[in-house]
Amino acid sequence: MAIQIIVEKCTGCTMCVKACPFDAIRMMDKKAVIDYNKCTLCGACVEACKFKAVLVEKSGQVCAVPDIKSYKGIWVFIEQKNGKVQSVAYELLGKARELAKKLNCDVSGVLIGNDLSDQLDEVIWHGADNIYLVEAPEIANFQDEPYTNIIVELVKKYKPEILLCGATNIGRSLISRVAIKIKAGLTADCTGLDVDLEKKILLQTRPAFGGNIMATIISPNFRPQMATVRHKVFQPMTPDKHRKGKIIKEEFPLSLFASRTKLIDIIEEIETLVNISEADIIVSGGRGMGSKENFKLLEELAHVLGAAVGSSRAAVDSNWMPYSHQVGQTGRTVAPKIYFACGISGQIQHLVGMQSSKIIVAINKDPDAPIFKVATYGIVGDLFTIIPALTKKFKEVLNK
Ligand code: FAD
Repeated sequence: MAIQIIVEKCTGCTMCVKACPFDAIRMMDKKAVIDYNKCTLCGACVEACKFKAVLVEKSGQVCAVPDIKSYKGIWVFIEQKNGKVQSVAYELLGKARELAKKLNCDVSGVLIGNDLSDQLDEVIWHGADNIYLVEAPEIANFQDEPYTNIIVELVKKYKPEILLCGATNIGRSLISRVAIKIKAGLTADCTGLDVDLEKKILLQTRPAFGGNIMATIISPNFRPQMATVRHKVFQPMTPDKHRKGKIIKEEFPLSLFASRTKLIDIIEEIETLVNISEADIIVSGGRGMGSKENFKLLEELAHVLGAAVGSSRAAVDSNWMPYSHQVGQTGRTVAPKIYFACGISGQIQHLVGMQSSKIIVAINKDPDAPIFKVATYGIVGDLFTIIPALTKKFKEVLNK
């Protein structure tokens, strides 16, 4: 599709400028000009223009609509690293089970690697009815091209209705390639998944427009419906060791494992501070901390509690904390047992990264701060008085 302004017909009325939701049209010499970097071809300007000065040309190419009724079941990409299944896969299986109950279908895991037989039971205990298993030494570790090729072939053969994948480095790299190859839609970084019971379609919710609204996205015409979800957004189900599942071994010719890149080595990141994604307790600070030095107050409290220190983006932007500690939409998603939010107002972009925490303790001097809406316990007051008092009390109680 292409779009253009027919200059002779444009009267400079600016209706198209007002109608464009993407700020992609501006006036130049009293004529409308389209910024093609911003234009999404949504067509709002075409409808708004009374003078037929906006022309959209549809190309002859039509995307074949698949027979969506032939697609069945929910698939989860079971991410493994060094032969160990990653916890995000268990979280997705838990959610997939919930959705499968509503859709009355099976949940299947797709596991690719080598020598993975010791991982299969766990995958089934966490919710898979079937495992599509592809094993070979050449694909022991993730590589974009072979893993993409394998999933594309499996999707073509078995036609899943829904395909879920972790929004991890591996997941993001893999599943976008799969989506392109099979011409399916993909909703990245979902914070909620549900099913429209009437239409039997997947409702994929995620923050949109800079996190200012939550948008629910659907893929009604193409299959599979594909979504990625970050680590810790969903809870895994309690493993059920009585569950039984079917292992479907798939073999492919070596040519499918060809890759233009070569994996030379895997080097684990050396983390000197407690990793916030795995911590049971997180003590987070925001702009209200006032300075980098004041984060020492949080480190003291964290030390007593055996907690990790997190932060809002405002604190990261001020260079008070490194980015790896940022919680929120553009940082990490966490779900600890206890989350302390100190001097954090609770904007939606922060909340989406921590609202699944079991207990939220908010400390803020503003009683109307939005963080109190999600807090289990709210302390209204000056954090410079409250945090040292908490540290002192926890030291006493915990004998530290
Ligand atoms: P503020 O909103 O300024 O709040 C500071 C709070 O501290 C106030 O409520 C104040 O009452 C309180 N306070 C001040 N002094 C004291 C005191 N002495 N005692 C007690 N309380 C005190 N933000 C994130 O956190 N994570 C993200 O991943 C993220 N991603 C974003 C992505 C996009 C696309 C956009 C547009 C924004 C994003 N943001 C993110 C930014 C977000 O919108 C907020 O600006 C940010 O979360 C605010 O941080 P804050 O709560 O620390 O600061």
